[in-house]
Amino acid sequence: MDTLLITGGAGFIGANLVRLALEKVDDRVVILDRLTYAGCRESLADVVVDSRVDFVEGSIDDRELVERLFDRHQPRAVLNLAAETHVDRSIEDPRVFVETNVGGTFELLEAARRHLAAATADRRAAFRFLHVSTDEVFGSLGETGLFSEDTRYDPSSPYSASKAAADHLVRAYHRTYGMPTLITNCSNNYGPFQFPEKLIPLMILNAVEAKDLPIYGDGSNVRDWIFVGDHCSGLLEVLVRGRPGESYNIGGGGERTNLEIVSTLCTALQEQLPPSENPAMSARGLDSYTQLITFVEDRPGHDLRYAIDASKIRRDLGWEPQSGLAEGMTRTVLWYLENRSWCEGVQGGYDRPRLGLLSR
Ligand code: NAD
Repeated sequence: MDTLLITGGAGFIGANLVRLALEKVDDRVVILDRLTYAGCRESLADVVVDSRVDFVEGSIDDRELVERLFDRHQPRAVLNLAAETHVDRSIEDPRVFVETNVGGTFELLEAARRHLAAATADRRAAFRFLHVSTDEVFGSLGETGLFSEDTRYDPSSPYSASKAAADHLVRAYHRTYGMPTLITNCSNNYGPFQFPEKLIPLMILNAVEAKDLPIYGDGSNVRDWIFVGDHCSGLLEVLVRGRPGESYNIGGGGERTNLEIVSTLCTALQEQLPPSENPAMSARGLDSYTQLITFVEDRPGHDLRYAIDASKIRRDLGWEPQSGLAEGMTRTVLWYLENRSWCEGVQGGYDRPRLGLLSR
């Protein structure tokens, strides 16, 4: 049986991807995850009992460990999702972003290079290094236009700059060493298992507790939302059929302002947890979740708009997103309402503070 090495498998997208991979492919799955604040064993509780899964706690920038995993498992592919991912945290403390996102990706590439040097020609040709990246590497769009695979890199935050650097390294390993690499640049994901520092789970959990819903600036920043399951199906499509050396944009065509997203969540919550049945809302004397919306100081360097042209993956690989935004949001709200113990477990003592302000 062949092996996929999935890094960051205990994170948001990783936990969804591991599940889909186990369903769609026959391989064993080795998960390498450092279990930072964003990675959670609980997200994999029903997965690690599968005999095809091997969970390894450790860092992608641990050279010895990464080499050992390559030697032991001889993976046919690496899917690199491990990363520090929160823009606000990257503003506060960029160092770990460079260490993990750049340094860690470098160690994985080096281990793969060493592994391929000793592999048969067939194994070498079949190997894939799939690096999972973000549309944030392209910087900000104005009112119009879309990011294509040819858009110039122009990252704004330490997070997106570290992801851009990693993308460049991956591309260089293809051009220089002929490594069969693939890069995906995806837009904002939403869905189950996302750490509640990111917009959607943060807003849902704050609303449930009748806390303010803090919207950065005037709420007009636009993101192109995609249901995490659609991103994961795109990743497997790229893994199987993507052309080595290429990059693929993945997006759901779900452009919305942050204010629109929060309003949609409020509408879904209004139905699924009516304020009259939510003691926290009653205690504040509120009958609509929209009453919790507040506008707060904007994020430094906040990109105005992201929007993806996903025509290449649609045309070349036949991938299509399956979830509409309204339905996906409703499903997501329901998941957080039904998985309160996961939410409490992953948060530990974290109480969703504002991060990434220079003025503090
Ligand atoms: P996440 O923050 O939820 O999870 C990241 C995971 O990586 C965690 O489990 C964490 O423990 C692990 N990790 C962090 N540092 C590590 C290290 N040094 N070694 C091993 N594991 C480490 O992130 P996510 O939202 O699931 O994102 C996964 C990947 O997808 C990232 O590379 C991110 O840049 C990319 N991406 C995310 C989005 C999005 O909207 N969430 C969009 C496009 C691309």
